[in-house]
Amino acid sequence: MAYLFDPPEVPSVPIRGRGERFPVRRIYCVGRNYAAHAREMGFDPDREPPFFFTKPADAIVGGDATIPYPPDTDNFHYEVELVAALRSGGRDIPAEQAIEHVFGYAVGNDLTRRDRQMEMREKGRPWDIGKAFDRSAQIGEIVPIEQCGDIGKARIWLSVNGAIRQDSTIAHLIWSVAETISTLSHSFELKPGDLIYTGTPEGVGPIVPGDEVVAGIDGLGEIRLAISGRAE
Ligand code: MN
Repeated sequence: MAYLFDPPEVPSVPIRGRGERFPVRRIYCVGRNYAAHAREMGFDPDREPPFFFTKPADAIVGGDATIPYPPDTDNFHYEVELVAALRSGGRDIPAEQAIEHVFGYAVGNDLTRRDRQMEMREKGRPWDIGKAFDRSAQIGEIVPIEQCGDIGKARIWLSVNGAIRQDSTIAHLIWSVAETISTLSHSFELKPGDLIYTGTPEGVGPIVPGDEVVAGIDGLGEIRLAISGRAE
């Protein structure tokens, strides 16, 4: 079959210790999945459960990177997150079987135009402009699950210019990875290549041109992000 023009490349992520890359189909994200972060965003986690939003697959920024300060914001934020990468999928997956679908985990940074997200939140409009913009989904190499150790209790942290801003543990997730996959699979048919950003702990904040952000999760390594000047 001929296409009108060359189809876009499949976004992909390196895999630790493997020559093959992980092809990305969809990016799902969980909002307010750590109680202390829900509170800092003005919500009561005891009254409102986490929820989902998405980013386009081509928003992926793989590994250490320098990116320009994005357009259309004056309040650009970092959010360190555990990312689950699916090897298989399905519908209505029971939580007890959900981890069988996980190929591996990675460190992610859910980059956010916070001013636009808040504006859309107040107006009851979609979050895309605040969350689903170009280069908004940084991710490190995917570590196969057999090499991850006990990720359920790992430390998750982020620093800006060497100062720690986020410091928590995966044990504080409201929905565990298994519960997240199960819940998501009741709304969408999950498939190989899906990434799930599982939410960020408390301590989110702004970054500006010249900043260097380092994000890490025990067992998964670190990713660095440098912010260059605003695009002209
Ligand atoms: Mn997030």
